Amino acid sequence: MRRSLLLLVALLLSLPPAPSPAAEPLPPNELGRIMILEYHKIDTPEERWTRTPANFRRDLERLWERGYRLVALGDLLDGKLALPRGTTPVVLTFDDSSPGQFRYVERNGEWLIDPDCAVGILEAFERAHPEFGHAATFYVLPGADPPNRLFNQPALAGKKLAYLASRGYEIGNHTLWHANLARYGEDVVRKQIMTAQEWIQRHVPGYRPRTLALPMGAYPKDVTWAAAGGRNGSSYRHDAILMVAGGAAPSPYGRTLDLYRLPRIQAVESEISRWLDYFDRHPQERYVSDGDPATITIPQGQAPRVRPLSGVRVVER
Ligand SMILES: [Zn+2]
Repeated sequence: MRRSLLLLVALLLSLPPAPSPAAEPLPPNELGRIMILEYHKIDTPEERWTRTPANFRRDLERLWERGYRLVALGDLLDGKLALPRGTTPVVLTFDDSSPGQFRYVERNGEWLIDPDCAVGILEAFERAHPEFGHAATFYVLPGADPPNRLFNQPALAGKKLAYLASRGYEIGNHTLWHANLARYGEDVVRKQIMTAQEWIQRHVPGYRPRTLALPMGAYPKDVTWAAAGGRNGSSYRHDAILMVAGGAAPSPYGRTLDLYRLPRIQAVESEISRWLDYFDRHPQERYVSDGDPATITIPQGQAPRVRPLSGVRVVER
């Protein structure tokens, strides 16, 4: 009896796992919410503000397997989400320009992107899964103390920023040296933002960061100081201001989207798992593309939730 039980167990263990039933494709819902993930350090060991290279790879794997695809924050803001039907956009952001986000290593006199830095990991993942896409926004600190000044390889800072811009990544404003904007008056707030942009432009002439991520999520007394301004013939203008928390963002087509308060999800294990599970359990809340950039497909009866849009057709499914 005991032996037959053991045999049965052995047989069960040797069987290939039963194929899971093919997941039903999710119906399109372009009023669903979108995750904007917020990474800090990519390094070892795993800590509150550090994701290891291995865990970052696993994050990409989990997103890919669940039907998420990378989109640029700028494309989200423009409402230009051209994804295959049934897939969900996700945005990656990296704050504070720490070394593990973008590092070059020298091999035989040539500078190569470190395969264990965020950019290297993203690009290797894209080579393996081209349909996953290619996008991320880097909120850099041009005037911070090392190791947070432009990824901490001073001689290569310009090469890195130029690479990011030329490859279609986005460079975002995060102030000059991570100033808590709640603590300062208008002059300092504007100078922090304007100077950060000017220092980025020294490396990438004419580059205009489209978005600002608030250091520590701290708003200045008047949000319009952070939104737009200028001096000496140069100016800044942000299409969105990002917070450091707040959950998944509303659809870019929804009326509830507040561009001055764009929420993010901190990319730590517990939050990523929680939100992936959340959308697995509440698929109706997840943004799902209809595969057609010219139409916005939404659930029946939700047209009043769509903000006024020109040039696109709203379809209730
Ligand atoms: Zn920061």
